[in-house]
Amino acid sequence: MGSERLDLISPVTEELTLSMPAGADADMDAAVAAARRAFDASDWPRLSPSERASYMLRIADELDKRTDLLKRVWTAQVGAPQFFVELSTEMAAAQFRYYAAMAESYPFEEERPATHGKVKVLREPVGVSALIIPWNTPLVLLTGKAAPAMLAGCTMVVKPSPETPLDALILAECVAAAGVPAGVFNVVPAGREAGNTLISDPRVDKVSFTGSTDAGRHIAKVCADRVARVSLELGGKSASILCDDADIDTWTQSVALMTMPFSGQICFSQTRVLVPQSRHDAFLDAYVAQIENFKVGDPWDPETFIGPVSMARQRDRVLDYIEVGRREGAKVVTGGGKVPGFNRGYYVAPTIFDSVDNNMRIAREEIFGPVVSVISYADDEEAIAIANDSEYGLSGSVFSADTARAEQIARRIRTGHIGVNCFNIDITAPFGGYKKSGLGREAGPEGLAGFLETKSMFLPA
Ligand code: NAD
Repeated sequence: MGSERLDLISPVTEELTLSMPAGADADMDAAVAAARRAFDASDWPRLSPSERASYMLRIADELDKRTDLLKRVWTAQVGAPQFFVELSTEMAAAQFRYYAAMAESYPFEEERPATHGKVKVLREPVGVSALIIPWNTPLVLLTGKAAPAMLAGCTMVVKPSPETPLDALILAECVAAAGVPAGVFNVVPAGREAGNTLISDPRVDKVSFTGSTDAGRHIAKVCADRVARVSLELGGKSASILCDDADIDTWTQSVALMTMPFSGQICFSQTRVLVPQSRHDAFLDAYVAQIENFKVGDPWDPETFIGPVSMARQRDRVLDYIEVGRREGAKVVTGGGKVPGFNRGYYVAPTIFDSVDNNMRIAREEIFGPVVSVISYADDEEAIAIANDSEYGLSGSVFSADTARAEQIARRIRTGHIGVNCFNIDITAPFGGYKKSGLGREAGPEGLAGFLETKSMFLPA
């Protein structure tokens, strides 16, 4: 380790909770060398998928033993409310079990008749993989990459976000306890410079990145330069469309919180709410009432729905955007600044802007905070046009009393994930973005395909 340190600041108290050494270039070099050696010289990539799956099932058991710790660590590092953490943490072990089960069902090898002789199509591990993780959901985003990478037979170097190094270190402990051979799974807790060293390293075959679109664009360029494989899970500005016949209660119950889950610091947040002019007031009143009903406060309180944002820089960024919205002429109908009564902690009041034009910055840029734009439209065609008028295409939802109508609209939205009269996310379903929301897919069999190369091996008849 070098002389740099990672300082973890509690978003609740604004005090230092932990200081630890940051990985230096020499640590990154050693981690990549270990991963390369394990890929080239150990039998890990040549084990059968079922053999690797047996390690993965043990990792899932080790994660189960640490579920409470992992829940606490998430809240301590970035202030995720405990209720949200309860819903999501167990997904990590589930991802390992889901991909372990795929060892039996995935077509790692298939034989096809060819014009001359026959061909075996082999799906082989892509190689040494760099897994780069953001701070908002640091555990399940990591396990969503590490589990398919392990089943594929890859070795990996994880670079967690400097604000959330602990989840990856706990996972490393689970991997070691499960007996996974040395060098397969390596973690370097460090900042962006170390990440840059990692993505530029010619010994790294694949970069799997989740984070901001700006960083993703840079990473894609570096990878293109050396023709390294790359997948990108980036930002979003997703639209939730309420049709003129939509049931208000169904929408508020399934989507209101998803407009600002974890204080809006989730990539699939439904941050543009599209309401028909004919029912604008009824929808807006119900939405505002629902948001005002959510308890804002200490994320350790299980009743809290909306805690602080995760860092001082996030708070400043979100407050800036609220001012931008006001200057652009949008109308604050609830929230609009800090939360009264909180003298410390990075609290920003859940904020809804009405009278938003889709050309305003608050409707176009990812704010990554509890700020939502309500946009009115005249008819279905206009709603579709507004939803698609975005450089992003990550998520969305459509609500109508007529499911067929909602489904027809959903089919026309250029986005990788969309709910019809519901909102859901699942480890079995591919997740990823159209347009500037990303490249490639995670979860489901598609998530495994991202860690495989395809080889055609010809044989005589
Ligand atoms: P970020 O891009 O600043 O950082 C993400 C990770 O990349 C961190 O580990 C960071 O240290 C590293 N990094 C940054 N620049 C790098 C570089 N040049 N080379 C190598 N590594 C680099 O993003 P963030 O603020 O941590 O996360 C928030 C963003 O992540 C939001 O835009 C959000 O929408 C996105 N996100 C997307 C998904 C998805 O599945 N699409 C999921 C969660 C978060």
